[in-house]
This record gives sequence, C-alpha cells and structure tokens, in this order.
Amino acid sequence: MNLARFPRVRLGHMPTPLEPMDNLSKHLGGPRIWVKRDDCTGLSSGGNKTRKLEFLMAEALAQKADVVITQGATQSNHARQTAAAAAKLGMACMILLEDRTGYTDEAYTLNGNVLLDQLHGASISKRKSGADMQAEMESVAADLRKTGGRPYVIPGGGSTAVGALGYVNCAIELLNQANEMGLKIDLLVHATGSAGTQAGLVAGLVALNSGIPVLGIGVRAPKDRQEANVLALAEKTAAHLGLAGIMKREHVVANCDYVGQGYGIPTEGMVEALKLVARMEGILLDPVYSGKGMAGLIDLIKKGEMREHENIVFLHTGGSVGLFGYPTAFGLQGYQA
Ligand SMILES: *Cc1c(COP(=O)(O)O)cnc(C)c1O
Repeated sequence: MNLARFPRVRLGHMPTPLEPMDNLSKHLGGPRIWVKRDDCTGLSSGGNKTRKLEFLMAEALAQKADVVITQGATQSNHARQTAAAAAKLGMACMILLEDRTGYTDEAYTLNGNVLLDQLHGASISKRKSGADMQAEMESVAADLRKTGGRPYVIPGGGSTAVGALGYVNCAIELLNQANEMGLKIDLLVHATGSAGTQAGLVAGLVALNSGIPVLGIGVRAPKDRQEANVLALAEKTAAHLGLAGIMKREHVVANCDYVGQGYGIPTEGMVEALKLVARMEGILLDPVYSGKGMAGLIDLIKKGEMREHENIVFLHTGGSVGLFGYPTAFGLQGYQA
C-alpha cells in the first residue's frame, strides 16, 4: 500500500516496539499477551495522536496555516500532543477543553495534560459539558479569519480520514514486525474513543489482507454507536486510500462493557488493571483509555474467551501523563515523611 503519496510530517519515534508481556501472561494463565508501545511515540511523552498528527499537520502546513485549533476533555492527550506538534512546527495552538467529568480539584484541572498544554505554549479556553465543540471551534476559527489569521481546525481526537492514515501506517508497521518475528497475531485489542485509531487499523489490516481481527474497548459511547462511528470512518479512510467498498460491517467490533459510569470516571477494573501492569511489567497505563482497555482484555481472558495458544497484541495508546490528574483514584496510602 502506497502511503508515501500522502503528505506527512515526521513527528514520532517509529517503529514503536512490539514486546511480550510475559509476567502478565503467566499471571493470567491465558494467551500470550504482547504490547505495541504507541505510548513511546516520543512527542511530549508520546501517545496515539502523534501518528494521526503526522498526516493532519502536513495538511495544515500545505494550507499555510499559522494556528491550529483543537478540542478535547480537560485531560485530553490529543490536545497535549497537538500543542507539542504545533510548537515543533512553529504554529500557534488554541485548545478548547470540555468539562466532561465535573471534577474541580486542582490536580485534574491544572496538572497532567493541562500543565503540558501550557508548557508547549498553547492557549486554553474552557467549555461547559455538552457544548457543541465542533461548532465552538468553527466560531473561533471564523473570528481568526476576520483578522487575517489562517486557522486549521482539527476535530476531537484527530479522527478524520486524514488522521486515520496514521493508524493505517501503524497497521503496516505492526504487520511488518510480526512477519519479521514470525509472530502470528490472533487479535489486536485497544481502547477506542473518537474512533480514528480503530478505523485506521481496520482499514489498513483489511487492505493488507492480514486476517487479523481488531477489538476496540469503548471508553464513552455505547456499543452500537461506537461501532457505527468506527465503521463510517473506516469506510471514509478506505475511500481516501482509493479502496472504497472494502470495509464490511463485521470488520468492526467494539466491546463497551468497561466504560463504567462514564468517560474519564475511574472504574475498579481500571484501577486493578493499571496497578497490575505497573507492578508486573513496569509499564504505565492511563486512567481514561488504556487502563479501561486493559481492564476489558483481562476480564475477557478471565472469562475464558481467549485460548492459551493465541497471541494477543494490546496496542498501548499512551496517556499516562493523565495519571497526575487522578492522584487519589488508586487508593494509595502515601507514606510517613
Ligand atoms: C485518544 C486516545 C485513545 C482513543 O483513540 P481514538 O482514536 O480517539 O479512538 C486511546 N488511548 C489514549 C491514551 C488516547 O489518548
């Protein structure tokens, strides 16, 4: 597949490692679990948005944009990676943050990703929960155009057909690694939110005739809506690749049983999964996405839904900076100074 014909600006450290999680696999007594380390994409502590931004920011540069506008939840990893990309490319960055959790403590509203957004020089403004964030961005962009600005608007999570090319690229990279290692991947599992990651992966893996199924673990929307969002974007992404019509309904599977009370609200399963992986593998997950994704994978293994001889790849999408927005979620005792 010829991805090189699409404009791309290099922002990440790739290929990211593909490593076995042998302690965790042994502990769970199920399939062999591997981790694809997209938490190590490099840019401002890494994460999955960097792959999408390589294609999105190339489009912004081609349009001679001088400012990028994007949006997300308060502890948005996407906003932080966009702020870093804009900094590196000499563009201004305006971030609109939506309050999705109602948390008002300083750790959540000022630390973690919010601290890094500001260190990268982005300007932040807040919006109420439930605001039409795309319309809010368009209105900020319209105001900038009136005074001669050249804004480029990036939808939440960078999930457009252009952004999803970053995960088509990841599908190519993963398959190359697996082929070189002689690793037969039986399932790829990851946390799914704004849908671009899963859409790009399934479009790429189907285009490559890989036969590798993908399971998205939802963090916000119910299953029907999540699968519809992913399928719609996967179809657009395939069309953008010149492969319209290759996506089938059954290529898109999401399990949304691990959301808990809502987006960004910790669950018991997330806390357990995050601690387990931190203690057994020395790897940090995040409270909003990869922690819930791993909670889902662990639960499905415990329920016997995966066979011992299988190779399961968990795509680590990053986000551990968000831990500093949730210092009290893990029931830790502190220590005597
Ligand atoms: C954004 C994000 C996801 C979800 O990816 P989408 O492309 O939005 O579905 C998963 N994990 C982390 C850490 C993220 O920041």
